[in-house]
Amino acid sequence: MLSKSPLDNILEKPGFKPFSGKRAFKILELTKNNLKTVSYNMEDVLKSISSLSSISDKEISLLVNLQSQICTGCGNCCLYRGSIDINKNELLKIASFRNKSYKKMKQELKAIPLGNGKFRIQQPCKFFTGKSCEIFEVKPFTCLSYPTIEILKNLSTGIYDDFCPIINDILSELVIKRVIEEKLYKENPEEFNEITEKWKKEILSYSELSQKERLKLMILKYNNKD
Ligand code: SF4
Ligand code: SF4
Repeated sequence: MLSKSPLDNILEKPGFKPFSGKRAFKILELTKNNLKTVSYNMEDVLKSISSLSSISDKEISLLVNLQSQICTGCGNCCLYRGSIDINKNELLKIASFRNKSYKKMKQELKAIPLGNGKFRIQQPCKFFTGKSCEIFEVKPFTCLSYPTIEILKNLSTGIYDDFCPIINDILSELVIKRVIEEKLYKENPEEFNEITEKWKKEILSYSELSQKERLKLMILKYNNKD
């Protein structure tokens, strides 16, 4: 059993800085909307939002699952990030996929060497067709991991790219997960670890569901921990 509640465990870490600012207000509104059919503990919701500046490894897997599921395919991350950084292996894979030499691909992309084995490529990305990625099968890590990578990079400021429409949805879902865990801890601290381990697996298994269906199940869990 944890001596502190899961949220206090995060919020009371040495050097912890709460997540705040405009983004926090937007996530609060979205979360209240997502939880509108249940009576929730507002203090837990506020603490859970403050806690967003710290994300565990298990939760990162959840975020990655979520992003791949709810990405709208708007293409804004192919147009408005300014530039993306890729490594030599990724550039080699892209060249091979496009049946081009490494040198030719580098020239075509006007890839700027950064001196650390990485290259910078300006956007808008030449592989974006307006609807999809022409190199989907070999797209680099920076694209595969977006927007989770953006969320993790800016945890301390809470300032994220405004053009990605799913960042707030992802963070709101994480807030709901933490609110539910807090409730479980308060109701049954003895069984908390067992329940949350089971829960974490279940939440990941929800990745096949739509976000609406998943939120519905999470809210059901909120009302009935079994
Ligand atoms: S490589 Fe594909 S996913 Fe990445 S920025 Fe270009 S078009 Fe978008
Ligand atoms: S900006 Fe966000 S929602 Fe749009 S394609 Fe990129 S990851 Fe998906």
